[in-house]
Amino acid sequence: MLALALLLAAAAPDWQLIPGSFERGRGPDGNTVLLDAPDGLVVVDTGRHQAHQDAILAAARARGKPVAAIVNTHWHLDHTGGNAALRAAFPGIPIYASNAVDGALTGFFPRSRAGAEQFIASGKAKPEQVAEIRRDMAAMDDLADLRPSRVVARTGTMTIAGRRLDVHLERYAATAGDVWLYDPQARLAIAGDLVVGLAPFMDTACPEGWRTALGHIAAAPFKALVPGHGAVMSRADFDSWRKAFDALLDCAAGSVGRQACIEGWMKDAAPFIPAADKDRVPGMIGYYIDTRLRAAPDEKARYCPGGPG
Ligand SMILES: [Zn+2]
Repeated sequence: MLALALLLAAAAPDWQLIPGSFERGRGPDGNTVLLDAPDGLVVVDTGRHQAHQDAILAAARARGKPVAAIVNTHWHLDHTGGNAALRAAFPGIPIYASNAVDGALTGFFPRSRAGAEQFIASGKAKPEQVAEIRRDMAAMDDLADLRPSRVVARTGTMTIAGRRLDVHLERYAATAGDVWLYDPQARLAIAGDLVVGLAPFMDTACPEGWRTALGHIAAAPFKALVPGHGAVMSRADFDSWRKAFDALLDCAAGSVGRQACIEGWMKDAAPFIPAADKDRVPGMIGYYIDTRLRAAPDEKARYCPGGPG
């Protein structure tokens, strides 16, 4: 009987990954995780594009359960852009997230909006890029679906839709407030963008705070980890990704050339970089070295405690 129960448990895991896309010339969709809960489904991150939102709703239908709650690991629009569609389908469901989006409303969003308006005004934006920008702007304006209705203010155990989860809050990491989950029952960590296979997305990062947060994730006894983008990782995968992350920060803090740091990442993180992405990752890492890791002191500290935000 026990063997049968284990077999059934293996056949029907109580969580499901909906992989995020990352097509060229478009913004990415973050990974989504559906967790079965007594009151319905907990949806961790909601993607950006219509196709991803449709995939979440189709998966919920296939599991035969209503969506009962949303958790946003962070406010980036590739993780929150589907909130409105899910709440249209399931009115009134709560959004659990940190309050870090409030800082973005006066900092990152107005800056990125100004840059996008300039790009459109230049006439260089392709029609599909304009459509993508307009969709992101609409998501920024929809505060009711962007801001948390249940603020995650500290690390602790929470019962979400009837399922007990260890909810962790990391201050000043990939954003000013990153939430990651550990589910002791499934021994599953859901890391959000604290772990991103092909490259750490440092657009709003405090790199040293991020390094600290990875130490907290390492302390959880997970067997599987879902990153913000990319394939599910084992414990060994996470350990080697974390080494690559630390090595990138150490390299950028040292005196060797920028190209050597890029090549170091390409080598250390090779198992996590899909073949189709190998040509575009060096540019991403170089961009983060220039705009964050080796930027002028004010810019480097922009998203760290006391930074200009
Ligand atoms: Zn992301």
